[in-house]
Amino acid sequence: MPSPAPPADRTTPQAVPPGDGVPGGSRPILARQAARESAARTYARHLPIVPVRARGAWITGADGRDYLDCLSGAGTLALGHNHPVVVGAIRAVLDSGAPLHVLDLATPVKDDFTSALLGVLPPELAADCRIHFAGPTGADAVEAAVKLARTATGRRGLFAFTGAYHGMTAGALALTGANAVREPAVAGDPFLTRLPFPHPYRCPFGLGGALGEAASASYVRTLIEDPQSGAPLPAAVVVEPVQGEGGVVPAPDAWLRSLRSLTREHGVPLIADEVQTGFGRTGELFGVDHAGVVPDVMVLSKAVGGGLPLAVVVYRASLDRWAEGAHTGTFRGNQLAMAAGAATLRFIAAEGLAARAAELGRLLVSRLTRYQAQYPLLGQVRGRGLMIGLEIVDPAGEPDALGALPAAPAAARRLRAELLARGVIAELGGRHGAVLRLLPPLTLGDDEAEHLLGVLGRALDVVAEDRDAPRARMEVARV
Ligand code: PMP
Repeated sequence: MPSPAPPADRTTPQAVPPGDGVPGGSRPILARQAARESAARTYARHLPIVPVRARGAWITGADGRDYLDCLSGAGTLALGHNHPVVVGAIRAVLDSGAPLHVLDLATPVKDDFTSALLGVLPPELAADCRIHFAGPTGADAVEAAVKLARTATGRRGLFAFTGAYHGMTAGALALTGANAVREPAVAGDPFLTRLPFPHPYRCPFGLGGALGEAASASYVRTLIEDPQSGAPLPAAVVVEPVQGEGGVVPAPDAWLRSLRSLTREHGVPLIADEVQTGFGRTGELFGVDHAGVVPDVMVLSKAVGGGLPLAVVVYRASLDRWAEGAHTGTFRGNQLAMAAGAATLRFIAAEGLAARAAELGRLLVSRLTRYQAQYPLLGQVRGRGLMIGLEIVDPAGEPDALGALPAAPAAARRLRAELLARGVIAELGGRHGAVLRLLPPLTLGDDEAEHLLGVLGRALDVVAEDRDAPRARMEVARV
């Protein structure tokens, strides 16, 4: 696939020029941001760039440098930055004189978006579903999905998984695994039961592989079927088909299928949080498609708005038993996001971008897996489609019973910094923040993928050398 902008040769670290590329440059802006914005700001802390222009997979900073964006707005920009199809759709709404904000009223733009969405949903769900427009974030749509399931079942309990990420509002945060951010808001949620997600590298049962998956499935079944499990039948089970923030951990297909049959048997709605996995990202249109599973509720955001804020919950019509106003919110009628989203969804389907993500993802994972022989700090390379994770470990550490090495968060942070210095934007996630996550646009070109692999190799060289140097020096000293 041709790339929208030729990758510049960014293989060596570039010093930030003092004058920067635009009037004012990036330094004073970054300094003002640090002085004025919240201590809770995130990406801005470790990606100190000031984007001023962007096209495809590339961002140009106020420092005049080009960066290959392998974060894509946390997986939002399926078609990359300023794709002509998206920009054209936004421009058409602006030029038409249509209202930009209409609460949840019907409009031709919304009608068209809804048709586009129904056109790409799993057919079994599309055939008999309802769509709720939530406030425009993944977290708000998760809140809506939970409320819907509780209302429909009359039950309160929820089952969610270790490593899960569902958002930062109190209800979504309760489902999220990250202890440090949960704790101030939702410590000890009495309605939540935490279940072990089958992790292929850090198996919660110390079993690994198919045995670990079977143990997890069996544990969930026991909690639901054992009258003395201490966990009443829940209102819903909430799962990510590939845990994203948790460190790019795909739900094994057989395990997800067992979760589907178990929840169906017991009349428990299965909520698939496809906020990050939706619309081609994993190499299928939806993350659940890998397992051939159709959930009862799907939570969709990020790519659904073509880069603008939008979130929806799609669910089986039989669950539609909540009352008028049950989940309201002012900003549920963003017409520009709906137009951008409709254009994006149609483009993904028409251009076969899910299959393209699968192909490119396979290539990247197989090449990166080969890197493991050269760089022992790559504990595991995994992913689906263009959702790829590199587990950064300490090769000198003590392996656990299954051979997994300790997480190496400092090396992971160094790798992220070395990538940025060479013009590649990537983020960390996972346990201990030691998984390098790659989420490039689905439109990434072959030459851009090669460029990424080359830069990653150079950055890994630096991190590996850095790690080995003190040890080598010690050995020389001993000699
Ligand atoms: N669910 C998943 C799976 C996510 O990855 C995210 C965001 N990373 C969310 C929910 C929350 O979305 P938002 O940040 O838009 O609230």
